[in-house]
Amino acid sequence: MRLPAHSAGPTPAALTYDPNNVFARILRKEVPAQVLHEDEHCLAFRDAAPQAPTHFLVVPKRPIRMLADAGPGDAQALGHLLLTAAAVAKQQGVGDRGFRVAINNGAGAGQSVFHLHVHVLAGRNFAWPPG
Ligand code: AMP
Repeated sequence: MRLPAHSAGPTPAALTYDPNNVFARILRKEVPAQVLHEDEHCLAFRDAAPQAPTHFLVVPKRPIRMLADAGPGDAQALGHLLLTAAAVAKQQGVGDRGFRVAINNGAGAGQSVFHLHVHVLAGRNFAWPPG
């Protein structure tokens, strides 16, 4: 279906995945990262600017810009991201005490790297609602 030119919403260009975003470059090993886990579907590595004593990211190997761009074909990849987040939290020794899992979707929600990622934070108390 063709949308009228004045239709609201992001332009096609804004929806384009940038293959040179920093997480794509980490996935290609062009940028170093402190990797905690890797498998065929995802990579988990420490956040470069940790907001808690433990703060790591889990990113899918699929080029998904943000959660809202994911479709039914990504269901398994998304489930795998969350299972990996919990498994790595356990491996890091923070599984029992509690940890925060966050996904920032879009610049308005604080997303700064446009390759889908799950934040996992632990080792301090967390406020609710989040800031
Ligand atoms: P967000 O603001 O939700 O898009 O989160 C992006 C996160 O990526 C921030 O917490 C950054 O500190 C982190 N980050 C940016 N560049 C790197 C990098 N090269 N290695 C590890 N973490 C990074």
